[in-house]
Amino acid sequence: MDEQAPEHPFVFLGGDVALDFVNTVLVDGGAPVDRLPAPADLAGWVAASGLGEEFGVPDRIAPTVHATAIALRGALKAGFDAVVTGEPVPDEAVASLNAVLRTGPGSELRGLPGDDLRLRPAVDLTADATALPWLLADAGARLLVGDRARLLRRCANHDTCVLMFLDTSRSHTRRWCSMDLCGNRSKVAAHGARARRRQQP
Ligand SMILES: [Zn+2]
Repeated sequence: MDEQAPEHPFVFLGGDVALDFVNTVLVDGGAPVDRLPAPADLAGWVAASGLGEEFGVPDRIAPTVHATAIALRGALKAGFDAVVTGEPVPDEAVASLNAVLRTGPGSELRGLPGDDLRLRPAVDLTADATALPWLLADAGARLLVGDRARLLRRCANHDTCVLMFLDTSRSHTRRWCSMDLCGNRSKVAAHGARARRRQQP
Protein backbone atom coordinates (compact mmCIF):
# COMPACT_ATOMS: atom_id res chain seq x y z
CA MET A 1 0.00 0.00 0.00
CA ASP A 2 1.15 3.50 -0.83
CA GLU A 3 1.48 5.46 2.39
CA GLN A 4 1.33 8.76 0.55
CA ALA A 5 -2.17 10.29 0.48
CA PRO A 6 -3.14 10.84 -3.14
CA GLU A 7 -3.90 14.31 -4.41
CA HIS A 8 -7.60 14.94 -4.71
CA PRO A 9 -9.88 17.96 -5.01
CA PHE A 10 -12.22 17.03 -2.14
CA VAL A 11 -12.72 18.48 1.33
CA PHE A 12 -13.33 16.22 4.30
CA LEU A 13 -14.24 18.55 7.12
CA GLY A 14 -17.93 17.80 7.63
CA GLY A 15 -17.48 15.31 10.45
CA ASP A 16 -19.86 12.86 8.72
CA VAL A 17 -19.58 11.04 5.43
CA ALA A 18 -22.98 12.34 4.28
CA LEU A 19 -21.88 15.94 4.89
CA ASP A 20 -18.59 15.36 3.12
CA PHE A 21 -20.61 14.00 0.20
CA VAL A 22 -22.86 17.08 0.12
CA ASN A 23 -19.71 19.22 0.36
CA THR A 24 -18.59 17.96 -3.05
CA VAL A 25 -20.51 20.93 -4.40
CA LEU A 26 -18.58 23.96 -3.27
CA VAL A 27 -17.71 27.49 -4.28
CA ASP A 28 -14.33 27.88 -5.89
CA GLY A 29 -13.16 31.12 -7.45
CA GLY A 30 -16.57 32.68 -6.81
CA ALA A 31 -18.57 30.07 -8.74
CA PRO A 32 -20.27 26.85 -7.66
CA VAL A 33 -18.27 23.81 -8.68
CA ASP A 34 -19.34 20.15 -8.72
CA ARG A 35 -16.36 17.96 -7.85
CA LEU A 36 -18.24 14.82 -8.97
CA PRO A 37 -19.19 15.49 -12.60
CA ALA A 38 -18.50 11.93 -13.77
CA PRO A 39 -18.61 8.36 -12.37
CA ALA A 40 -14.80 8.24 -12.18
CA ASP A 41 -14.83 11.31 -9.93
CA LEU A 42 -17.28 9.58 -7.60
CA ALA A 43 -14.99 6.54 -7.46
CA GLY A 44 -12.12 8.88 -6.60
CA TRP A 45 -14.19 10.43 -3.83
CA VAL A 46 -14.99 7.00 -2.36
CA ALA A 47 -11.28 6.19 -2.38
CA ALA A 48 -10.45 9.45 -0.59
CA SER A 49 -13.28 9.14 1.93
CA GLY A 50 -13.43 6.70 4.82
CA LEU A 51 -15.95 4.59 2.90
CA GLY A 52 -13.30 2.91 0.76
CA GLU A 53 -11.48 1.62 3.81
CA GLU A 54 -14.49 -0.30 5.09
CA PHE A 55 -16.49 -1.06 1.95
CA GLY A 56 -13.84 -1.13 -0.75
CA VAL A 57 -13.09 1.18 -3.67
CA PRO A 58 -15.05 0.56 -6.87
CA ASP A 59 -13.06 0.01 -10.06
CA ARG A 60 -15.86 1.58 -11.98
CA ILE A 61 -19.21 3.12 -11.20
CA ALA A 62 -22.09 2.74 -13.65
CA PRO A 63 -23.55 6.00 -14.99
CA THR A 64 -26.93 5.08 -13.48
CA VAL A 65 -25.37 4.66 -10.02
CA HIS A 66 -23.60 7.99 -10.43
CA ALA A 67 -26.88 9.66 -11.45
CA THR A 68 -28.67 8.16 -8.43
CA ALA A 69 -25.91 9.36 -6.11
CA ILE A 70 -25.98 12.90 -7.53
CA ALA A 71 -29.78 13.10 -7.20
CA LEU A 72 -29.48 11.81 -3.65
CA ARG A 73 -26.88 14.48 -2.91
CA GLY A 74 -29.43 17.14 -3.83
CA ALA A 75 -32.01 15.60 -1.51
CA LEU A 76 -29.51 15.36 1.34
CA LYS A 77 -28.52 18.98 0.83
CA ALA A 78 -32.18 20.04 0.93
CA GLY A 79 -32.67 18.05 4.13
CA PHE A 80 -29.58 19.44 5.84
CA ASP A 81 -30.44 23.00 4.76
CA ALA A 82 -33.89 22.56 6.30
CA VAL A 83 -32.44 21.33 9.60
CA VAL A 84 -30.00 24.24 9.76
CA THR A 85 -32.78 26.78 9.21
CA GLY A 86 -35.21 25.03 11.55
CA GLU A 87 -37.62 24.04 8.78
CA PRO A 88 -39.20 20.63 8.27
CA VAL A 89 -37.33 18.40 5.82
CA PRO A 90 -39.11 18.88 2.45
CA ASP A 91 -41.42 16.04 1.38
CA GLU A 92 -39.59 15.67 -1.94
CA ALA A 93 -36.29 15.19 -0.11
CA VAL A 94 -37.85 12.55 2.15
CA ALA A 95 -39.32 10.76 -0.88
CA SER A 96 -35.97 10.80 -2.70
CA LEU A 97 -34.16 9.50 0.37
CA ASN A 98 -36.75 6.80 0.94
CA ALA A 99 -36.49 5.59 -2.66
CA VAL A 100 -32.78 4.92 -2.06
CA LEU A 101 -33.19 3.68 1.53
CA ARG A 102 -35.60 0.98 0.32
CA THR A 103 -32.79 -0.54 -1.76
CA GLY A 104 -30.99 -1.49 1.47
CA PRO A 105 -28.48 -4.33 0.98
CA GLY A 106 -29.04 -6.11 4.29
CA SER A 107 -26.46 -6.80 6.99
CA GLU A 108 -23.65 -9.18 7.76
CA LEU A 109 -21.20 -9.81 10.57
CA ARG A 110 -17.78 -8.39 9.81
CA GLY A 111 -14.51 -8.44 11.67
CA LEU A 112 -12.05 -5.78 10.68
CA PRO A 113 -8.43 -6.63 11.56
CA GLY A 114 -7.90 -6.13 15.29
CA ASP A 115 -11.57 -5.41 15.82
CA ASP A 116 -14.49 -7.31 17.34
CA LEU A 117 -17.23 -8.63 15.09
CA ARG A 118 -19.72 -5.98 14.13
CA LEU A 119 -23.03 -6.04 12.32
CA ARG A 120 -22.46 -3.99 9.18
CA PRO A 121 -24.10 -3.43 5.78
CA ALA A 122 -23.40 -6.31 3.39
CA VAL A 123 -21.65 -4.11 0.86
CA ASP A 124 -18.49 -4.70 -1.16
CA LEU A 125 -18.09 -1.71 -3.45
CA THR A 126 -15.05 -3.28 -5.11
CA ALA A 127 -17.26 -5.94 -6.63
CA ASP A 128 -20.40 -3.88 -7.12
CA ALA A 129 -20.92 -0.16 -6.52
CA THR A 130 -24.71 -0.36 -6.76
CA ALA A 131 -25.09 0.01 -2.98
CA LEU A 132 -23.04 3.22 -2.82
CA PRO A 133 -26.09 5.55 -2.94
CA TRP A 134 -27.70 3.48 -0.18
CA LEU A 135 -24.61 3.84 2.05
CA LEU A 136 -24.79 7.61 1.64
CA ALA A 137 -28.58 7.74 2.08
CA ASP A 138 -28.35 5.66 5.24
CA ALA A 139 -25.62 7.89 6.71
CA GLY A 140 -27.56 11.02 5.75
CA ALA A 141 -30.86 9.76 7.14
CA ARG A 142 -29.23 8.80 10.45
CA LEU A 143 -27.78 12.29 10.65
CA LEU A 144 -31.11 13.96 9.83
CA VAL A 145 -33.09 12.17 12.55
CA GLY A 146 -30.37 11.62 15.16
CA ASP A 147 -29.08 13.65 18.08
CA ARG A 148 -26.26 15.02 16.00
CA ALA A 149 -28.67 16.99 13.80
CA ARG A 150 -28.56 19.81 16.34
CA LEU A 151 -24.83 20.15 15.67
CA LEU A 152 -25.38 20.77 11.96
CA ARG A 153 -24.02 24.12 10.78
CA ARG A 154 -23.43 25.98 7.57
CA CYS A 155 -20.16 27.88 7.28
CA ALA A 156 -20.60 31.46 8.57
CA ASN A 157 -18.96 32.71 5.40
CA HIS A 158 -22.38 32.69 3.70
CA ASP A 159 -21.41 34.89 0.75
CA THR A 160 -18.68 32.69 -0.66
CA CYS A 161 -18.98 29.30 1.05
CA VAL A 162 -21.69 26.62 1.04
CA LEU A 163 -19.86 23.99 3.09
CA MET A 164 -21.64 22.28 6.01
CA PHE A 165 -20.24 20.58 9.06
CA LEU A 166 -21.04 19.20 12.50
CA ASP A 167 -19.98 21.54 15.26
CA THR A 168 -18.43 19.02 17.62
CA SER A 169 -16.29 21.64 19.34
CA ARG A 170 -16.63 21.47 23.11
CA SER A 171 -18.02 25.01 23.35
CA HIS A 172 -20.22 24.58 20.23
CA THR A 173 -18.84 27.79 18.78
CA ARG A 174 -17.31 26.55 15.52
CA ARG A 175 -18.36 29.02 12.84
CA TRP A 176 -16.19 28.21 9.86
CA CYS A 177 -15.87 25.19 7.63
CA SER A 178 -12.18 25.53 8.34
CA MET A 179 -9.88 28.27 9.58
CA ASP A 180 -7.73 27.92 6.47
CA LEU A 181 -10.56 28.11 3.95
CA CYS A 182 -12.83 30.72 5.54
CA GLY A 183 -11.88 31.71 9.09
CA ASN A 184 -8.72 33.56 8.18
CA ARG A 185 -10.23 35.02 5.03
CA SER A 186 -13.06 36.45 7.12
CA LYS A 187 -10.69 37.86 9.70
CA VAL A 188 -8.68 39.57 6.96
CA ALA A 189 -11.91 41.01 5.49
CA ALA A 190 -13.04 42.27 8.92
CA HIS A 191 -9.63 43.82 9.51
CA GLY A 192 -9.84 45.54 6.12
CA ALA A 193 -13.32 46.89 6.89
CA ARG A 194 -12.15 48.26 10.27
CA ALA A 195 -9.13 49.88 8.61
CA ARG A 196 -11.36 51.48 5.97
CA ARG A 197 -13.69 52.84 8.66
CA ARG A 198 -10.77 54.37 10.51
CA GLN A 199 -9.66 56.13 7.35
CA GLN A 200 -13.04 57.79 6.84
CA PRO A 201 -13.13 61.42 7.99
ZN1 LIG B 1 -16.40 28.06 4.63
